[in-house]
Amino acid sequence: MDLELDRQSRDRVTMLAALGRDTLRPLGLEADRLGRPIPADHEFFASLVELGQGRTRWRPGHGSGGRESGQEAGRTGGTLAMICAVEEMSYWDRGVAVAFPGPGMGEAAIMGMGTEDQKQRFLGPFVEPDRPRWGSFAMTEPGAGSDTSAISTSCRRDGDDWILNGAKMFIGNASRADWIMVWATVDRKQGRGGHRAFVVEKGTPGLGNFKIEKKMGLKAYESTSFTLEDCCVPAANLLGGEQYYQSREGTRGALRTFNAMRPMVAAMAVGMGRAAQDEALIFARDNGLLDRTRVRDRFERIDRRLAAARLLAWKAAWLADKQLPNITEASMAKALAPAVALEAASLGMELLGETGARGDHLVEKLFRDAKAMDIVEGTGQVQRVIIARQLVDLPRS
Ligand SMILES: Cc1cc2nc3c(=O)[nH]c(=O)nc-3n(C[C@H](O)[C@H](O)[C@H](O)COP(=O)(O)OP(=O)(O)OC[C@H]3O[C@@H](n4cnc5c(N)ncnc54)[C@H](O)[C@@H]3O)c2cc1C
Repeated sequence: MDLELDRQSRDRVTMLAALGRDTLRPLGLEADRLGRPIPADHEFFASLVELGQGRTRWRPGHGSGGRESGQEAGRTGGTLAMICAVEEMSYWDRGVAVAFPGPGMGEAAIMGMGTEDQKQRFLGPFVEPDRPRWGSFAMTEPGAGSDTSAISTSCRRDGDDWILNGAKMFIGNASRADWIMVWATVDRKQGRGGHRAFVVEKGTPGLGNFKIEKKMGLKAYESTSFTLEDCCVPAANLLGGEQYYQSREGTRGALRTFNAMRPMVAAMAVGMGRAAQDEALIFARDNGLLDRTRVRDRFERIDRRLAAARLLAWKAAWLADKQLPNITEASMAKALAPAVALEAASLGMELLGETGARGDHLVEKLFRDAKAMDIVEGTGQVQRVIIARQLVDLPRS
Protein backbone atom coordinates (compact mmCIF):
# COMPACT_ATOMS: atom_id res chain seq x y z
CA MET A 1 0.00 0.00 0.00
CA ASP A 2 1.47 3.31 -1.15
CA LEU A 3 0.89 6.05 1.45
CA GLU A 4 2.50 8.82 -0.55
CA LEU A 5 0.30 11.54 -2.01
CA ASP A 6 1.13 13.03 -5.39
CA ARG A 7 2.38 16.61 -5.53
CA GLN A 8 -0.94 18.05 -6.67
CA SER A 9 -2.80 16.43 -3.77
CA ARG A 10 -0.21 17.60 -1.23
CA ASP A 11 -0.51 21.15 -2.56
CA ARG A 12 -4.29 20.90 -2.24
CA VAL A 13 -4.04 19.93 1.42
CA THR A 14 -1.69 22.88 2.04
CA MET A 15 -4.12 25.24 0.30
CA LEU A 16 -7.03 23.84 2.33
CA ALA A 17 -5.12 24.33 5.58
CA ALA A 18 -4.73 28.04 4.81
CA LEU A 19 -8.37 28.32 3.72
CA GLY A 20 -9.43 26.45 6.84
CA ARG A 21 -7.57 28.71 9.25
CA ASP A 22 -8.66 31.95 7.56
CA THR A 23 -12.22 31.09 6.55
CA LEU A 24 -13.65 27.67 7.47
CA ARG A 25 -13.15 27.92 11.21
CA PRO A 26 -14.53 31.49 11.56
CA LEU A 27 -17.51 30.68 9.30
CA GLY A 28 -18.25 27.48 11.24
CA LEU A 29 -18.15 29.29 14.56
CA GLU A 30 -20.42 32.02 13.20
CA ALA A 31 -22.99 29.50 11.90
CA ASP A 32 -22.89 27.68 15.24
CA ARG A 33 -23.51 30.87 17.22
CA LEU A 34 -26.29 31.99 14.85
CA GLY A 35 -27.76 28.47 14.87
CA ARG A 36 -28.35 28.33 11.12
CA PRO A 37 -26.62 27.04 7.99
CA ILE A 38 -24.48 29.30 5.81
CA PRO A 39 -26.92 30.77 3.24
CA ALA A 40 -26.58 29.34 -0.29
CA ASP A 41 -25.96 32.82 -1.72
CA HIS A 42 -23.08 33.55 0.70
CA GLU A 43 -20.11 34.99 -1.19
CA PHE A 44 -17.89 32.27 0.32
CA PHE A 45 -19.48 29.67 -1.97
CA ALA A 46 -18.95 31.82 -5.09
CA SER A 47 -15.30 32.31 -4.09
CA LEU A 48 -14.90 28.53 -3.71
CA VAL A 49 -16.11 28.01 -7.27
CA GLU A 50 -13.52 30.52 -8.46
CA LEU A 51 -10.89 28.50 -6.59
CA GLY A 52 -11.94 25.40 -8.56
CA GLN A 53 -13.86 23.74 -5.72
CA GLY A 54 -17.25 22.07 -6.13
CA ARG A 55 -16.29 20.09 -9.24
CA THR A 56 -17.13 16.53 -10.11
CA ARG A 57 -14.50 13.79 -10.40
CA TRP A 58 -16.37 12.57 -13.49
CA ARG A 59 -14.76 13.35 -16.83
CA PRO A 60 -16.82 13.31 -20.05
CA GLY A 61 -15.77 10.64 -22.54
CA HIS A 62 -13.27 9.11 -20.11
CA GLY A 63 -13.03 5.33 -20.68
CA SER A 64 -16.03 3.46 -19.29
CA GLY A 65 -18.53 6.29 -19.51
CA GLY A 66 -16.37 8.87 -17.84
CA ARG A 67 -15.52 6.79 -14.81
CA GLU A 68 -11.88 6.98 -13.75
CA SER A 69 -10.27 3.60 -13.30
CA GLY A 70 -8.75 2.88 -9.90
CA GLN A 71 -5.27 3.39 -11.25
CA GLU A 72 -6.12 6.68 -12.93
CA ALA A 73 -8.01 7.80 -9.87
CA GLY A 74 -4.92 7.04 -7.78
CA ARG A 75 -2.70 9.11 -10.04
CA THR A 76 -5.01 12.07 -10.34
CA GLY A 77 -6.12 12.14 -6.75
CA GLY A 78 -8.68 9.41 -6.14
CA THR A 79 -10.27 8.46 -2.85
CA LEU A 80 -7.01 8.53 -0.88
CA ALA A 81 -6.30 12.11 -1.94
CA MET A 82 -9.90 13.06 -1.23
CA ILE A 83 -9.84 11.71 2.29
CA CYS A 84 -6.67 13.65 3.05
CA ALA A 85 -8.43 16.78 1.80
CA VAL A 86 -11.60 16.16 3.84
CA GLU A 87 -9.56 15.39 6.97
CA GLU A 88 -7.86 18.77 6.66
CA MET A 89 -11.12 20.64 5.98
CA SER A 90 -12.82 18.90 8.90
CA TYR A 91 -9.93 19.82 11.17
CA TRP A 92 -11.01 23.42 10.62
CA ASP A 93 -14.76 22.84 10.42
CA ARG A 94 -16.61 19.73 9.29
CA GLY A 95 -19.95 21.50 9.00
CA VAL A 96 -18.52 24.04 6.57
CA ALA A 97 -16.75 21.24 4.65
CA VAL A 98 -20.09 19.51 4.02
CA ALA A 99 -21.64 22.83 2.99
CA PHE A 100 -19.08 23.11 0.14
CA PRO A 101 -20.77 23.13 -3.27
CA GLY A 102 -20.47 19.90 -5.28
CA PRO A 103 -22.47 16.87 -6.36
CA GLY A 104 -22.08 15.24 -2.93
CA MET A 105 -22.85 11.59 -2.24
CA GLY A 106 -24.98 11.26 -5.35
CA GLU A 107 -21.84 11.63 -7.49
CA ALA A 108 -20.50 8.17 -6.68
CA ALA A 109 -23.91 6.63 -7.32
CA ILE A 110 -24.27 8.34 -10.71
CA MET A 111 -20.69 7.47 -11.71
CA GLY A 112 -21.18 3.85 -10.68
CA MET A 113 -24.78 3.24 -11.69
CA GLY A 114 -25.92 6.05 -14.01
CA THR A 115 -26.48 5.89 -17.76
CA GLU A 116 -24.25 7.94 -20.06
CA ASP A 117 -27.12 10.43 -20.53
CA GLN A 118 -27.53 10.79 -16.75
CA LYS A 119 -23.81 11.42 -16.24
CA GLN A 120 -23.93 14.13 -18.91
CA ARG A 121 -27.08 15.78 -17.58
CA PHE A 122 -26.47 15.61 -13.82
CA LEU A 123 -22.67 15.64 -13.48
CA GLY A 124 -21.92 17.67 -16.63
CA PRO A 125 -22.86 21.01 -14.95
CA PHE A 126 -20.33 20.19 -12.19
CA VAL A 127 -17.37 19.73 -14.56
CA GLU A 128 -16.68 23.47 -14.61
CA PRO A 129 -19.56 24.97 -12.62
CA ASP A 130 -20.63 28.49 -13.56
CA ARG A 131 -21.96 29.07 -10.02
CA PRO A 132 -22.18 27.18 -6.72
CA ARG A 133 -24.16 24.02 -7.40
CA TRP A 134 -25.12 21.22 -5.03
CA GLY A 135 -26.35 17.67 -5.38
CA SER A 136 -28.04 15.79 -2.56
CA PHE A 137 -28.61 12.16 -1.52
CA ALA A 138 -31.87 11.21 0.20
CA MET A 139 -32.31 7.81 1.77
CA THR A 140 -33.37 8.46 5.39
CA GLU A 141 -37.06 8.76 6.27
CA PRO A 142 -39.03 9.30 9.48
CA GLY A 143 -39.48 5.48 9.67
CA ALA A 144 -36.21 4.30 8.11
CA GLY A 145 -32.69 5.15 9.26
CA SER A 146 -30.17 2.34 9.80
CA ASP A 147 -32.51 -0.18 8.25
CA THR A 148 -32.62 1.22 4.73
CA SER A 149 -34.73 -1.74 3.57
CA ALA A 150 -37.63 -0.14 5.48
CA ILE A 151 -37.94 2.96 3.29
CA SER A 152 -41.57 3.60 2.35
CA THR A 153 -41.35 6.42 -0.19
CA SER A 154 -43.24 4.80 -3.04
CA CYS A 155 -42.68 4.93 -6.78
CA ARG A 156 -44.98 3.67 -9.51
CA ARG A 157 -44.61 3.74 -13.26
CA ASP A 158 -47.09 5.94 -15.14
CA GLY A 159 -46.41 5.89 -18.88
CA ASP A 160 -43.15 7.72 -19.52
CA ASP A 161 -42.98 8.92 -15.92
CA TRP A 162 -42.69 7.69 -12.37
CA ILE A 163 -44.89 9.02 -9.55
CA LEU A 164 -43.19 9.39 -6.17
CA ASN A 165 -44.90 9.81 -2.80
CA GLY A 166 -43.26 9.98 0.62
CA ALA A 167 -41.15 11.98 3.03
CA LYS A 168 -37.40 12.26 3.64
CA MET A 169 -35.55 13.79 6.55
CA PHE A 170 -32.08 14.88 7.67
CA ILE A 171 -30.93 15.24 4.04
CA GLY A 172 -27.75 17.26 3.52
CA ASN A 173 -27.98 20.37 1.30
CA ALA A 174 -31.41 19.29 -0.03
CA SER A 175 -33.19 22.63 -0.37
CA ARG A 176 -30.30 24.26 -2.26
CA ALA A 177 -29.55 21.30 -4.54
CA ASP A 178 -29.94 21.28 -8.35
CA TRP A 179 -31.09 17.68 -7.92
CA ILE A 180 -31.73 15.21 -5.14
CA MET A 181 -31.07 11.51 -5.53
CA VAL A 182 -34.23 10.09 -3.94
CA TRP A 183 -34.44 6.42 -2.97
CA ALA A 184 -37.91 4.91 -3.21
CA THR A 185 -39.51 1.47 -3.38
CA VAL A 186 -41.77 -0.25 -5.88
CA ASP A 187 -42.89 -2.66 -3.16
CA ARG A 188 -41.88 -2.50 0.51
CA LYS A 189 -42.27 -6.25 0.86
CA GLN A 190 -39.29 -6.74 -1.47
CA GLY A 191 -36.94 -4.91 0.94
CA ARG A 192 -33.86 -3.59 -0.87
CA GLY A 193 -34.85 -5.60 -3.94
CA GLY A 194 -37.68 -3.12 -4.46
CA HIS A 195 -35.48 -0.02 -4.27
CA ARG A 196 -35.17 2.43 -7.13
CA ALA A 197 -33.21 5.70 -7.16
CA PHE A 198 -34.41 8.80 -8.99
CA VAL A 199 -32.68 12.04 -9.76
CA VAL A 200 -35.37 14.53 -8.82
CA GLU A 201 -34.60 17.95 -10.23
CA LYS A 202 -35.17 21.21 -8.38
CA GLY A 203 -38.57 22.69 -9.13
CA THR A 204 -40.21 19.35 -10.02
CA PRO A 205 -43.91 19.74 -9.13
CA GLY A 206 -44.73 17.77 -5.97
CA LEU A 207 -41.24 18.17 -4.47
CA GLY A 208 -41.52 20.60 -1.57
CA ASN A 209 -42.18 21.38 2.09
CA PHE A 210 -38.45 21.87 2.70
CA LYS A 211 -37.77 22.38 6.39
CA ILE A 212 -34.29 22.80 7.81
CA GLU A 213 -33.84 20.53 10.84
CA LYS A 214 -32.63 21.70 14.23
CA LYS A 215 -29.27 20.09 15.01
CA MET A 216 -27.06 19.92 18.10
CA GLY A 217 -23.91 20.44 16.01
CA LEU A 218 -22.58 20.73 12.45
CA LYS A 219 -24.86 23.72 12.00
CA ALA A 220 -22.98 25.27 9.06
CA TYR A 221 -24.69 22.99 6.53
CA GLU A 222 -28.36 22.31 6.14
CA SER A 223 -29.97 18.97 7.01
CA THR A 224 -33.44 19.18 5.59
CA SER A 225 -36.73 17.30 5.54
CA PHE A 226 -39.00 17.42 2.49
CA THR A 227 -41.96 15.65 0.93
CA LEU A 228 -42.82 14.15 -2.44
CA GLU A 229 -46.52 14.42 -3.24
CA ASP A 230 -47.51 12.81 -6.55
CA CYS A 231 -44.11 14.01 -7.70
CA CYS A 232 -43.85 13.21 -11.42
CA VAL A 233 -40.30 12.25 -12.49
CA PRO A 234 -39.38 11.38 -16.11
CA ALA A 235 -38.38 7.73 -16.65
CA ALA A 236 -35.07 9.06 -18.01
CA ASN A 237 -34.24 10.08 -14.41
CA LEU A 238 -34.50 6.54 -13.01
CA LEU A 239 -30.88 5.91 -12.02
CA GLY A 240 -29.30 3.38 -14.37
CA GLY A 241 -32.60 2.80 -16.21
CA GLU A 242 -34.99 -0.10 -15.59
CA GLN A 243 -32.50 -2.55 -17.10
CA TYR A 244 -30.19 -1.89 -14.18
CA TYR A 245 -32.77 -3.04 -11.66
CA GLN A 246 -33.85 -6.08 -13.70
CA SER A 247 -30.29 -7.34 -13.25
CA ARG A 248 -30.76 -6.82 -9.46
CA GLU A 249 -27.67 -4.61 -9.49
CA GLY A 250 -29.76 -1.78 -8.09
CA THR A 251 -30.23 -3.50 -4.76
CA ARG A 252 -26.51 -3.27 -4.15
CA GLY A 253 -25.96 0.21 -5.54
CA ALA A 254 -26.72 2.19 -2.40
CA LEU A 255 -24.61 -0.08 -0.24
CA ARG A 256 -21.63 0.43 -2.56
CA THR A 257 -22.12 4.19 -2.31
CA PHE A 258 -21.94 3.93 1.48
CA ASN A 259 -18.79 1.78 1.31
CA ALA A 260 -17.11 4.50 -0.73
CA MET A 261 -18.30 7.20 1.68
CA ARG A 262 -17.42 5.56 5.00
CA PRO A 263 -13.64 6.06 4.72
CA MET A 264 -14.41 9.68 3.88
CA VAL A 265 -16.56 10.17 6.98
CA ALA A 266 -13.93 8.40 9.09
CA ALA A 267 -11.28 10.79 7.80
CA MET A 268 -13.51 13.74 8.65
CA ALA A 269 -13.82 12.42 12.20
CA VAL A 270 -10.03 12.04 12.41
CA GLY A 271 -9.70 15.71 11.45
CA MET A 272 -12.21 16.72 14.14
CA GLY A 273 -10.46 14.53 16.70
CA ARG A 274 -7.14 16.19 15.89
CA ALA A 275 -8.73 19.61 16.33
CA ALA A 276 -10.22 18.64 19.71
CA GLN A 277 -6.90 17.13 20.81
CA ASP A 278 -4.98 20.28 19.80
CA GLU A 279 -7.42 22.58 21.60
CA ALA A 280 -7.41 20.40 24.71
CA LEU A 281 -3.59 20.30 24.69
CA ILE A 282 -3.39 24.11 24.47
CA PHE A 283 -5.74 24.46 27.41
CA ALA A 284 -3.95 21.77 29.44
CA ARG A 285 -0.53 23.34 28.77
CA ASP A 286 -1.75 26.85 29.62
CA ASN A 287 -3.23 25.58 32.88
CA GLY A 288 -0.35 23.38 34.00
CA LEU A 289 -2.32 20.14 33.61
CA LEU A 290 0.27 18.30 31.53
CA ASP A 291 2.43 17.55 34.58
CA ARG A 292 -0.07 14.87 35.56
CA THR A 293 0.69 11.40 34.26
CA ARG A 294 -2.97 10.44 34.08
CA VAL A 295 -3.74 13.44 31.87
CA ARG A 296 -0.78 12.64 29.58
CA ASP A 297 -1.94 9.01 29.39
CA ARG A 298 -5.35 10.12 28.18
CA PHE A 299 -3.74 12.22 25.43
CA GLU A 300 -1.46 9.32 24.47
CA ARG A 301 -4.44 6.97 24.08
CA ILE A 302 -6.26 9.47 21.85
CA ASP A 303 -3.15 10.10 19.75
CA ARG A 304 -2.59 6.37 19.21
CA ARG A 305 -6.23 5.71 18.32
CA LEU A 306 -6.41 8.69 15.95
CA ALA A 307 -3.35 7.35 14.09
CA ALA A 308 -4.97 3.88 13.89
CA ALA A 309 -8.27 5.33 12.64
CA ARG A 310 -6.46 7.33 9.96
CA LEU A 311 -4.58 4.26 8.72
CA LEU A 312 -7.82 2.26 8.59
CA ALA A 313 -9.50 5.02 6.58
CA TRP A 314 -6.53 5.15 4.20
CA LYS A 315 -6.56 1.37 3.74
CA ALA A 316 -10.30 1.43 2.98
CA ALA A 317 -9.77 4.30 0.52
CA TRP A 318 -6.80 2.57 -1.11
CA LEU A 319 -8.94 -0.57 -1.63
CA ALA A 320 -11.72 1.61 -3.09
CA ASP A 321 -9.25 3.14 -5.54
CA LYS A 322 -8.18 -0.37 -6.58
CA GLN A 323 -11.88 -1.31 -6.87
CA LEU A 324 -11.33 -4.10 -4.33
CA PRO A 325 -13.82 -5.08 -1.60
CA ASN A 326 -13.47 -2.79 1.41
CA ILE A 327 -16.56 -3.53 3.53
CA THR A 328 -14.67 -4.55 6.67
CA GLU A 329 -12.02 -1.83 6.46
CA ALA A 330 -14.60 0.89 5.68
CA SER A 331 -16.76 -0.22 8.62
CA MET A 332 -13.78 -0.50 10.97
CA ALA A 333 -12.66 3.03 10.09
CA LYS A 334 -16.20 4.39 10.47
CA ALA A 335 -16.70 2.56 13.78
CA LEU A 336 -13.43 3.77 15.28
CA ALA A 337 -12.82 7.35 14.09
CA PRO A 338 -15.98 9.10 15.42
CA ALA A 339 -15.56 7.33 18.77
CA VAL A 340 -12.00 8.70 19.08
CA ALA A 341 -13.08 12.18 17.97
CA LEU A 342 -15.71 12.14 20.71
CA GLU A 343 -13.15 10.82 23.21
CA ALA A 344 -10.83 13.73 22.36
CA ALA A 345 -13.62 16.29 22.68
CA SER A 346 -14.81 14.68 25.94
CA LEU A 347 -11.32 14.85 27.41
CA GLY A 348 -11.18 18.50 26.38
CA MET A 349 -14.52 19.16 28.10
CA GLU A 350 -13.33 17.44 31.28
CA LEU A 351 -10.13 19.47 31.38
CA LEU A 352 -11.91 22.73 30.60
CA GLY A 353 -14.34 22.32 33.49
CA GLU A 354 -16.51 25.40 33.90
CA THR A 355 -14.80 27.06 30.89
CA GLY A 356 -16.35 24.33 28.72
CA ALA A 357 -19.68 24.46 30.47
CA ARG A 358 -20.12 28.12 29.44
CA GLY A 359 -20.71 26.88 25.90
CA ASP A 360 -18.54 29.34 24.00
CA HIS A 361 -15.29 27.38 23.70
CA LEU A 362 -14.31 25.62 20.45
CA VAL A 363 -13.96 22.33 22.35
CA GLU A 364 -17.60 22.52 23.39
CA LYS A 365 -18.63 23.02 19.74
CA LEU A 366 -16.42 20.10 18.67
CA PHE A 367 -18.04 17.98 21.40
CA ARG A 368 -21.47 18.59 19.82
CA ASP A 369 -20.15 18.27 16.25
CA ALA A 370 -18.33 14.98 16.97
CA LYS A 371 -21.40 13.24 18.38
CA ALA A 372 -23.18 13.44 15.03
CA MET A 373 -20.26 11.69 13.30
CA ASP A 374 -21.16 8.43 15.03
CA ILE A 375 -24.67 8.65 13.54
CA VAL A 376 -24.11 9.71 9.90
CA GLU A 377 -23.35 7.14 7.18
CA GLY A 378 -24.38 4.22 9.37
CA THR A 379 -24.08 4.38 13.14
CA GLY A 380 -21.05 3.01 14.98
CA GLN A 381 -23.23 0.22 16.34
CA VAL A 382 -24.33 -0.79 12.84
CA GLN A 383 -20.68 -0.80 11.67
CA ARG A 384 -19.84 -3.20 14.48
CA VAL A 385 -22.73 -5.45 13.41
CA ILE A 386 -21.33 -5.45 9.83
CA ILE A 387 -17.78 -6.27 10.97
CA ALA A 388 -19.00 -9.13 13.17
CA ARG A 389 -21.13 -10.58 10.36
CA GLN A 390 -18.18 -10.41 7.96
CA LEU A 391 -16.00 -12.10 10.57
CA VAL A 392 -18.25 -15.14 10.83
CA ASP A 393 -19.12 -15.25 7.12
CA LEU A 394 -22.75 -14.22 7.47
CA PRO A 395 -24.25 -12.33 4.52
CA ARG A 396 -24.64 -8.61 5.01
CA SER A 397 -28.16 -8.04 6.40
C1 LIG B 1 -26.05 15.36 10.79
C2 LIG B 1 -26.74 14.28 10.02
C3 LIG B 1 -26.71 14.31 8.62
C4 LIG B 1 -27.37 13.32 7.87
N1 LIG B 1 -27.36 13.41 6.49
C5 LIG B 1 -28.06 12.49 5.76
C6 LIG B 1 -28.15 12.61 4.33
O1 LIG B 1 -27.58 13.53 3.72
N2 LIG B 1 -28.89 11.69 3.66
C7 LIG B 1 -29.54 10.65 4.29
O2 LIG B 1 -30.18 9.85 3.61
N3 LIG B 1 -29.49 10.54 5.64
C8 LIG B 1 -28.78 11.43 6.39
N4 LIG B 1 -28.74 11.34 7.77
C9 LIG B 1 -29.48 10.27 8.44
C10 LIG B 1 -28.60 9.15 8.96
O3 LIG B 1 -28.14 8.35 7.90
C11 LIG B 1 -29.42 8.35 9.98
O4 LIG B 1 -29.61 9.18 11.10
C12 LIG B 1 -28.72 7.06 10.36
O5 LIG B 1 -28.80 6.13 9.34
C13 LIG B 1 -29.32 6.44 11.64
O6 LIG B 1 -30.69 6.32 11.52
P1 LIG B 1 -31.66 6.78 12.71
O7 LIG B 1 -31.21 8.11 13.16
O8 LIG B 1 -33.06 6.64 12.23
O9 LIG B 1 -31.39 5.76 13.88
P2 LIG B 1 -31.97 4.28 14.03
O10 LIG B 1 -31.70 3.49 12.80
O11 LIG B 1 -33.37 4.37 14.51
O12 LIG B 1 -31.04 3.72 15.18
C14 LIG B 1 -31.26 4.03 16.56
C15 LIG B 1 -30.23 3.26 17.38
O13 LIG B 1 -30.38 1.85 17.18
C16 LIG B 1 -29.14 1.29 16.77
N5 LIG B 1 -29.38 0.21 15.79
C17 LIG B 1 -30.13 0.27 14.66
N6 LIG B 1 -30.09 -0.91 14.01
C18 LIG B 1 -29.32 -1.74 14.77
C19 LIG B 1 -28.91 -3.12 14.61
N7 LIG B 1 -29.27 -3.87 13.57
N8 LIG B 1 -28.12 -3.64 15.59
C20 LIG B 1 -27.74 -2.90 16.65
N9 LIG B 1 -28.09 -1.59 16.84
C21 LIG B 1 -28.87 -1.03 15.90
C22 LIG B 1 -28.37 2.42 16.13
O14 LIG B 1 -26.98 2.21 16.20
C23 LIG B 1 -28.80 3.60 16.99
O15 LIG B 1 -27.99 3.63 18.13
C24 LIG B 1 -28.08 12.28 8.54
C25 LIG B 1 -28.08 12.24 9.93
C26 LIG B 1 -27.44 13.22 10.68
C27 LIG B 1 -27.47 13.14 12.18
